[in-house]
Amino acid sequence: MLRKKVDMKEYKSYFRSSVDALAGYAPGEQPKMLDLVKLNTNENPFPPSPAVLGALESFDATLLRRYPDPMADSLCSAIAEVNQVTRNMVVAGNGSDDILTMTFRAFTAPDKPVAILDPTYSLYPVLAAMQEAPVIKIKLDENNNFAMPEDILEQAKGANLLIITRPNAPTGNSFPKENIRKIASEFDGILFIDEAYADFADDNCMDMVHEFSNVIVSRTSSKSLALAGLRFGYAVANPVIIDGLNKLKDSYNMDMITQKLAEAAVRDQEYLQTTVAKVKSLRTELATELKKLNFELVDTQANFIFAAPPDGDGEKAFRFLRDHAVIVRYFPGGVTGKYLRITVGTAAQNQRLIEVLKKLYQ
Ligand SMILES: *Cc1c(COP(=O)(O)O)cnc(C)c1O
Repeated sequence: MLRKKVDMKEYKSYFRSSVDALAGYAPGEQPKMLDLVKLNTNENPFPPSPAVLGALESFDATLLRRYPDPMADSLCSAIAEVNQVTRNMVVAGNGSDDILTMTFRAFTAPDKPVAILDPTYSLYPVLAAMQEAPVIKIKLDENNNFAMPEDILEQAKGANLLIITRPNAPTGNSFPKENIRKIASEFDGILFIDEAYADFADDNCMDMVHEFSNVIVSRTSSKSLALAGLRFGYAVANPVIIDGLNKLKDSYNMDMITQKLAEAAVRDQEYLQTTVAKVKSLRTELATELKKLNFELVDTQANFIFAAPPDGDGEKAFRFLRDHAVIVRYFPGGVTGKYLRITVGTAAQNQRLIEVLKKLYQ
């Protein structure tokens, strides 16, 4: 049968109307400029563990003719060990974005809304739109270090899934653990705690998976483990939830190389702690320098700083930095438009950033 020729004027869309309406996720840019100081996507400025390189070098490429282990069993066992949970409480994903995709497939629908913080990670509304699920946005208090509102449970009522990003992005602040515990016990739905940045924080909620059957905790290798290019994240929850997520995942979502390298990274906790300590100390130094330039800083527990320049014009600062080959993240719009989200880089990178900012604000 002959297909109709493509004539854009007459083009009839066969997409679901929700797909036509979808803007799609806008990832941070990955520019090709040389000599660029790249502080825009919260990657780790340090390399991954040498154990990862070792695993790559010893990988037998002839094995690639076979399918990988669909359940990534060896990797998931390592994750379970490190987090002191049982193997049946773990699922691995192709990045934690993959974990989020499974979660939205599982718990959201046109009659099953999701509640998220505002501002937060901009992928969540995109995943909700794919499910045609309503989104309830819970405004954080800009004048109080982006704290959660006291009536969060009231606002989240009716949602089937509540996502708390802790530490939050792009703001970087955390929330008192006692509040999270209270939400977990009283919220009638799944509480998904996105811990992409937890390794840089004072505490985390991993122990809550033993306490509450409705809690999912997710982690990623993209930030603290310095493996954004590998694509690996995981979720921990009670075995019934993990069983459900396993039904919804792509059957071979973890390729053979990723399984092997991710396991090497996860097992090298000592290297992880060393790298995290370095990033945290650089974070303190960078915060001090930004304050000297009269930037207003949100208290951060992540590997980035959400900071407003003295004139409150985030866009101007973003463009000026970009013209000087320093890339940070800028989110246009009401509250976020006043700020820059600056990834903590190496000492030299942070210094370049500060030097450029001095031209503007000193
Ligand atoms: C970076 C990030 C992720 C995604 O991590 P990947 O594993 O790279 O997909 C998830 N949640 C938050 C809040 C993030 O900042």
